[in-house]
Amino acid sequence: AKKAVLGPLVGAVDQGTSSTRFLVFNSKTAELLSHHQVEIKQEFPREGWVEQDPKEILHSVYECVEKTCEKLGQLNIDISNIKAIGVSNQRETTVVWDKLTGEPLYNAVVWLDLRTQSTVESLSKRIPGNNNFVKSKTGLPLSTYFSAVKLRWILDNVRKVQKAVEENRALFGTVDSWLIWSLTGGVNGGVHCTDVTNASRTMLFNIHSLEWDKELCEFFGIPMEILPNVRSSSEIYGLMKISHSLKAGALEGVPISGCLGDQSAALVGQMCFQDGQAKNTYGTGCFLLCNTGHKCVFSEHGLLTTVAYKLGRNKPVFYALEGSVAIAGAVIRWLRDNLGIIKTSEEIEKLAKEVGTSYGCYFVPAFSGLYAPYWDPSARGIICGLTQFTNKCHIAFAALEAVCFQTREILDAMNRDCGIPLSHLQVDGGMTSNKILMQLQADILYIPVVKPSMPETTALGAAMAAGAAEGVGVWSLEPEDLSAVTMERFEPQINAEESEIRYSTWKKAVMKSMGWVT
Ligand code: ADP
Repeated sequence: AKKAVLGPLVGAVDQGTSSTRFLVFNSKTAELLSHHQVEIKQEFPREGWVEQDPKEILHSVYECVEKTCEKLGQLNIDISNIKAIGVSNQRETTVVWDKLTGEPLYNAVVWLDLRTQSTVESLSKRIPGNNNFVKSKTGLPLSTYFSAVKLRWILDNVRKVQKAVEENRALFGTVDSWLIWSLTGGVNGGVHCTDVTNASRTMLFNIHSLEWDKELCEFFGIPMEILPNVRSSSEIYGLMKISHSLKAGALEGVPISGCLGDQSAALVGQMCFQDGQAKNTYGTGCFLLCNTGHKCVFSEHGLLTTVAYKLGRNKPVFYALEGSVAIAGAVIRWLRDNLGIIKTSEEIEKLAKEVGTSYGCYFVPAFSGLYAPYWDPSARGIICGLTQFTNKCHIAFAALEAVCFQTREILDAMNRDCGIPLSHLQVDGGMTSNKILMQLQADILYIPVVKPSMPETTALGAAMAAGAAEGVGVWSLEPEDLSAVTMERFEPQINAEESEIRYSTWKKAVMKSMGWVT
């Protein structure tokens, strides 16, 4: 044997907007032993629409599980040591499927999708009582971002779904529900559930009572019988059942015992268990979450209130304030796929390095309107400050800078809401491998940016929740478990004055992007 691994292992599915991963960790050391990743297609059938194929999502999970198990085999690691599986997922993305056939009844409507703008406008005219009706129950503004309006749109527009609802065959879920139902047997007894963190992103969930809210379901016209059961983020939901598509038979019978929306999972994976601890994840979008403990804090500055986690049936719920940015890594993917100025996302770093400045060019990637702190669905992307001198390297630099400026805006909002400014920023996500981005971020925030050496914190959080579940008990959530994790630090290098000038020019560019669609 080349390498003997002692102790129980935990697997984690990390189903993101850009890609799916399966990762296996050693529960004693949190060491990542093996993983596999597959990129996911995004379809843009019309302007503002973003869809994914739920079957492709599911099959990408199967593929990642299989390939990871193969890799473990090559390392002489026995996969029967995998004692639990956690699921973390892109949030809000809406799936409706048929419980008798197991077939999706429509494509997944992705969180970034803007088709519900008119649905939102007409609903906002009918809000009962005061304007706070939705926000006070859910912590969320009435926006195209959340599942309820996407589901409303599907119910209004997809005949197959209407029929399935009438015939009591339809199930709704965010991606976690779709995956857990499928992985626990699908049509053969699949478990239809979600966890409190994912439920809190639907706009149908009361974050105080931790239940589906009857009044909200009535307001959005959602039949409650299609909703999944809401569970804690750490408990056994069901056991892996091998379908014909999943050959990794050794995982048969392994409990799925952790479930968290990706941003909550990253908060757990970064060990932000104390009131006031925060992390920022740079993936397709950018999400800054600050743990507010057992209190629901409502923002005065455009942030959301959301469920952070509830790690066990009898454990207390934790809440978070969240600053959400729709487009971060997605702008790099856009430069790759739509403009073709790079072939891989990593190449952006080379272009940006060539110039080291945007030379006065500013790029506001408001492709899906603007989220926090503006919440302007009518904003659209702009590139401005162009001169004859501007080239693709400046645009590449401006794209990276845009991610940093957007983070600065949500960090400022967070500092105002919390009163105590963050002394440093803990980061993770696919984009954080970009060193130029990390340095720029420290320069623009004027505080140090700190990145764990093991960047897969989202998967780690899901694995921790799964391993710690009652009846599994192979992971202890005490921070000393992760004492081996080393950190990389980026210190601010430009002066605060220079940073302020750039930031105020950015704000001018944001103003130009707003109110574009009338
Ligand atoms: P998600 O969880 O949303 O699927 P990830 O955390 O996997 O996203 O990050 C993927 C995103 O990061 C993609 O949008 C990709 O364009 C971007 N990305 C990946 N590597 C780099 C890099 N070196 N520089 C800039 N962006 C990157």
